[in-house]
Amino acid sequence: MAKSRIVKIPDEPEGWIYSPEDGLPYRRYRALIRDECARRCAYCLTRESLYPAGERAFQLDHYRPKAKYPELARRYRNLRWSCSECNRLKGTHPFRYSVQRGLHRIPKAQWLPDIMSDRLRDHFVYRATSGLFEAVSARGEEAIRRLNLNAQYRVQFRLDLEAAVDLLHSKLKQVKRLVDEKKADGVVIPDEIKALRKELRKSYDRMTKDRRTHDAVLEP
Ligand SMILES: [Zn+2]
Repeated sequence: MAKSRIVKIPDEPEGWIYSPEDGLPYRRYRALIRDECARRCAYCLTRESLYPAGERAFQLDHYRPKAKYPELARRYRNLRWSCSECNRLKGTHPFRYSVQRGLHRIPKAQWLPDIMSDRLRDHFVYRATSGLFEAVSARGEEAIRRLNLNAQYRVQFRLDLEAAVDLLHSKLKQVKRLVDEKKADGVVIPDEIKALRKELRKSYDRMTKDRRTHDAVLEP
């Protein structure tokens, strides 16, 4: 199976790094929550680096919605880093509207998998070749349904990115091979070639790695 370069399903829950006090204004938590979630959406796992608007395409999301749990609105550990699309689609989850029952709470066995406390791979897998998520639990199914994870616009976005990052990867390999050949011939590699290679490597890492910095600070 081809490995995805743009979506990595975490093997383990992320677990919390920081413990600021609750009840502060949201803006003070942004940098911390962003790092907790490794600069990617806690729900669709898309990295900030893959969005044209970058960080500005992301928002703080309340895992338990503040409309239903006002007491949790400013609780630090109820916050997640979310792309605006997931934030919008998640809405009042874990409450769902149906004509028969109105707004009702869904069973806990179907709550969206939580990147901070759940092993996401127990809930869904991602196939790089088709660009599709596949559920392996009822909670994974709920995530795919509620967040439109397999909607055409989402799938096409991921497939286009997979192709672009694959191309970048093959160019990097090509540059490495050329440099290695020249080195073997005793040619001194010019600094601008070294710099170019470093730049390509940096872009590739930004687009393909989920990294927490552990050094985010509470905004004053
Ligand atoms: Zn998202």
